[in-house]
Amino acid sequence: MPQARVLPAFDGDVLVPGDPGYDEARAVWNGAIDRRPRYVVRCAGADDVQRAVRVAREHGLTLGVRGGGHSAAGWAVPDDGLMIDLSGMREVAVDPAARTAQVQGGALLGSLDAATQPFGLATTAGIVSHTGIGGLALGGGMGWLARQVGLTCDNVCGFEVVTAEGEVVRATADENPDLFWGLRGGGGNFGVVTRFDLTLHDVGTQALVAEVDLDPEHALDALRTWVARASDAPRPATLYADLVAGGALTLGFSWVGDPAGAEGLVAELDRLGTPLARRVEPRSYLELQSQSDVPTAHGFRRYAKSHYVRGLTDAALEAFLAHVDARVGAASLVAYGGAIADVDPDATAFVHRDVEFEYDVGARWEDPADDEAVVASCRRLASGLEPWSTGVYVNALADEGAAGVRRAYGDGTYARLRQVKAAWDPENVFRLNQNIPPA
Ligand code: FAD
Repeated sequence: MPQARVLPAFDGDVLVPGDPGYDEARAVWNGAIDRRPRYVVRCAGADDVQRAVRVAREHGLTLGVRGGGHSAAGWAVPDDGLMIDLSGMREVAVDPAARTAQVQGGALLGSLDAATQPFGLATTAGIVSHTGIGGLALGGGMGWLARQVGLTCDNVCGFEVVTAEGEVVRATADENPDLFWGLRGGGGNFGVVTRFDLTLHDVGTQALVAEVDLDPEHALDALRTWVARASDAPRPATLYADLVAGGALTLGFSWVGDPAGAEGLVAELDRLGTPLARRVEPRSYLELQSQSDVPTAHGFRRYAKSHYVRGLTDAALEAFLAHVDARVGAASLVAYGGAIADVDPDATAFVHRDVEFEYDVGARWEDPADDEAVVASCRRLASGLEPWSTGVYVNALADEGAAGVRRAYGDGTYARLRQVKAAWDPENVFRLNQNIPPA
């Protein structure tokens, strides 16, 4: 059993149980996760990541890789293994002339946006600024800009990766193209990404949020109209529907760009019916990107179920509106389409290019005694939308296991991912993730 002293020297810190900072390092977003790594290696750079991968293999230690720690299943934290903690690798360097950003593998989305916005630039990131670029971009990356410029993974032009052999390689369209394909949707299966090279876009700094709250008992017509409008809405807009248990149905959209362009869509929103409340609020892009940070804070117990859906009928919308279980926090539909659908499904390992909406139902709670009931409620509500499901977002999976991973990719892409896995990680060193077994 190796002790800290048998580890090689690292530029960053090594924490073991009992050390100050150890408990903070192993705590992730989902407060229900309570695992104790034998070592936490807070890597200072790619060299440290190489050393950590090699030493873990040498000593047969299970490897976990922590980006932002947001995976609901807590994949970042290996029980009794070695956790590569990338929180010391969060730098973002922007080249405004080339419109690119070099982003270290542990960066959070807020640092990316903060670095690019002074130039009026941005690229698709998720909607909560404390999410890690690592897990998000490797699984796809949906955000308010995706209908304009594609998913985060569509905007990665290069990766620097530490492989299972402990080598540093590049993956681009020309260099290791199989790895480049697999890293854009295939998750953390192929190595530790120490740097993402991202394409930026001139989107300015302005945004707008427009919403109406309706009585869910009388909202079917409005929901039907809004859902029908979503996929061919102007690309700066992302339409959504949010239902809070025991509360209102919120229909609305976010808009990234000059708010003046959103006037027509605001008028359409106003025609949906007499609202209980109405909000039309210009805000900066940075405000939009952090507006959900507080309700999604770290530390609570969490569970969610999700489907990609298409062709929602009245029966589907009624099933959605029937989400009145008080144990479950909220259900939502968020529109895809636009630039997401422009990309060939074979071009990246993210295949769901024809999705109309991502449906999600999720809960947060504090008492472990409620675990079983809350999880059962989420599952039951999500099963109501299953007939319209075309698959699932890999980053929305929790405890669905191998069947969930297959659903996330479909047979053809799954088989191709297994080949890439066999080429780059034949011993499945990187297995704490939505795992692709080597072919
Ligand atoms: P972690 O738990 O640190 O990592 C998740 C997985 O990725 C692990 O298997 C880990 O080993 C691997 N990994 C992380 N970094 C690296 C790296 N550099 N190299 C190799 N492997 C790595 N998704 C969206 O698409 N859009 C959203 O708007 C969105 N919002 C979210 C909001 C919240 C509050 C939460 C909790 C999740 C959200 N997600 C969203 C889902 C999110 O994309 C996933 O949870 C993702 O896994 C988070 O990545 P992370 O680095 O924070 O998590």
